[in-house]
Amino acid sequence: MRTFIHNGVVVTSAGTLDANVLIDGEKIAAVLDRDAPAPAADQVIDATGKYVLPGGIDVHTHMEMPFGGTFSADTFETGTRAAAWGGTTTIVDFAVQAKGTSLLATLDKWHAKADGNCDIDYGFHMIVSDVNETTLKEMDACIAAGVNSFKMFMAYPGVFYATDGEILLAMQKAASSGATVMMHAENGIAIDQLVAQAIAAGRTDPVNHGLTRPPELEGEATSRAITLAKVANCPLYIVHLSASHALAAVAAARDSGQNVFAETCPQYLYLSLEDLARPDFEGAKFVASPPLRPAEHQDSLWRGLRTNDLSVVSTDHCPFCFKDQKELGRGDFSKIPNGMPGVEHRMDLLHQGVVAGKLTLPRWVEVASTTPARMFGLYPRKGVIAAGSDADIVIYDPAATQTLSAATHHMNVDYSAYEGMQITGKVVTVLSRGRPVIADGAYAGASGHGQFLARGLNQYLV
Ligand SMILES: [Zn+2]
Repeated sequence: MRTFIHNGVVVTSAGTLDANVLIDGEKIAAVLDRDAPAPAADQVIDATGKYVLPGGIDVHTHMEMPFGGTFSADTFETGTRAAAWGGTTTIVDFAVQAKGTSLLATLDKWHAKADGNCDIDYGFHMIVSDVNETTLKEMDACIAAGVNSFKMFMAYPGVFYATDGEILLAMQKAASSGATVMMHAENGIAIDQLVAQAIAAGRTDPVNHGLTRPPELEGEATSRAITLAKVANCPLYIVHLSASHALAAVAAARDSGQNVFAETCPQYLYLSLEDLARPDFEGAKFVASPPLRPAEHQDSLWRGLRTNDLSVVSTDHCPFCFKDQKELGRGDFSKIPNGMPGVEHRMDLLHQGVVAGKLTLPRWVEVASTTPARMFGLYPRKGVIAAGSDADIVIYDPAATQTLSAATHHMNVDYSAYEGMQITGKVVTVLSRGRPVIADGAYAGASGHGQFLARGLNQYLV
């Protein structure tokens, strides 16, 4: 099966190109000059007036994730379908080690959830909750199984929290094995004291989730993680960076030449503490950690994206329904499940940044597709439109308009964090390994098409 996409503007991290794309089976066969003779093809897609992009890669999602006695509301099936609707063709989700269990058994468990159920390709990171001799050894087996990034937490004491000593041991192990450590950098020990004080004083509304997790405690933890990584000589990737304090620490480390990288998420670029303060418990819709920040942090994050101190935008997609799930925390904000939906809207929200003049068109593709692929060992199979790469392609109409709403989104969650927001730009067609998942605005995919991706090394390390 050969598909020919013609008359579009190919956008890559390097620039834009008036070019045609020939797909043969699951791979891109050629990127052809606009004036070259049209090759024989079974199917022709006219992309006049549209962008032709490498499919989005969201390296931070949580499908069916256990949290506080409930599960995030998207399965791998519904979550990957929603991702495809929004122009994302690869996710990297987190397998979550429960304390006292093995990493390899955890990996099996996540394969059982995902395998045969995904619309698009997927990989895993491993969350290490227990650092001991056995799990340190198992990290090598995870790497051999295609999982070479390990996430640790300086937050959530008693759940995922790791001590500085445990973090150092895991970083030393990761460094010797060529793996990257990903860090949730918030000082959970101090935060828990502030949370207990707020609850004791009767300050129980959702906004207190933000007020008890001040940006200084993200900045402090980020600096500490960077220091530990320096001592261990380990590559470090800060997840969901939300605060200018943390960004300053990352920028300084990068300026010094250390292998430190960071991502932010659309919610930190567009939403703020004011959303957490919405009345009548509506703020619960916006509870995630780190919390939404005062709006003045947003400009720093956009600047960080331009200067490459922030290399990636992922979603931290972790949806909990308002009814029955978020409501678990009525009267006690600390019991609100942490997480927000977003996997469907990342490409659109970043394109909105292009429309607003905050990002260039190539940078949009770079932070949403190309860099994630290189950072997590998927390049050049993913993240680029070039001969030999997987035919994961998005045809995007930059002039179409849409309104984000729970009434029209495809995520399995009963609210939108961006309800009513007007967006310029819309996905038209999405191909995953040459096969349509979205065709001309209609669903054409199949759960089970998505394949597990064994990932290689972080390609930014020297
Ligand atoms: Zn997360």
